[in-house]
Amino acid sequence: AIRISGMNKLYGQFHALHDIDLTVERGEKVVICGPSGSGKSTLIRCINRLEEHQSGTIEVMGTCLDDNVDHIDEIRREAGMVFQNFNLFPHMSVLDNCTLAPVLARKTPRADAEATALRYLARVKIPEQAHKFPGELSGGQQQRVAIARALCMNPKIMLFDEPTSALDPEMISEVLDVMVGLAREGMTMVCVTHEMGFARQIADRVIFMADGRIVEQAPPEDFFNNPQNDRTRAFIGQVM
Ligand code: ATP
Ligand code: MG
Repeated sequence: AIRISGMNKLYGQFHALHDIDLTVERGEKVVICGPSGSGKSTLIRCINRLEEHQSGTIEVMGTCLDDNVDHIDEIRREAGMVFQNFNLFPHMSVLDNCTLAPVLARKTPRADAEATALRYLARVKIPEQAHKFPGELSGGQQQRVAIARALCMNPKIMLFDEPTSALDPEMISEVLDVMVGLAREGMTMVCVTHEMGFARQIADRVIFMADGRIVEQAPPEDFFNNPQNDRTRAFIGQVM
């Protein structure tokens, strides 16, 4: 589970997140949406300390996110992250991208790490791309490598930050299909996305953010059919 309480994040003088309270239970799937600049990426990046929060508490799988490097490492091992722009290592093969962290951070023997990587590459339907470099793949294929790479660490939680928004339309569904599969297998997921069909399909809860605050949260039926806040209503009108 993820437990965030009274969390504030500042970039210098700029107050990016205000008093965030958010709990994500084990197996729960949460979709976060909201206008550009509302703090969605900042929130998700605070969960694995890609950004540091200034007050309040964040606890991930029972580990408190504080300045203890062991805690930060532990949380990063448990929470896989997938970014908008894939963030693959361009000078490494797909297979090496997938084995690097397990070998370095989990001390997995290379042969085992490769077997696991090939299994996940097969799961995201690109086993034949294992020996290529990221630059030789389509955007959709690169994003599926990024998901496979995260899964190779055997995470308990997956964090997604707009994983399909850099993709051409025809590649979006191949990535969403993988995410739906993960959701159905019971993965705990926090997804920043504006793919509202995906949200309806798998979310237990949809969260709407504006100006660094959680403005509204509800199960998808209620969120889309009966939004309570004017800004939520306006946003839904724009994205649907
Ligand atoms: P988008 O939909 O465009 O991705 P977002 O909801 O993810 O937007 P964030 O990237 O979290 O928004 O940014 C929230 C606010 O914090 C914005 O006003 C942004 O300008 C500011 N911000 C983000 N990163 C930094 C940074 N490194 N330094 C200073 N301000 C930042
Ligand atoms: Mg963002």
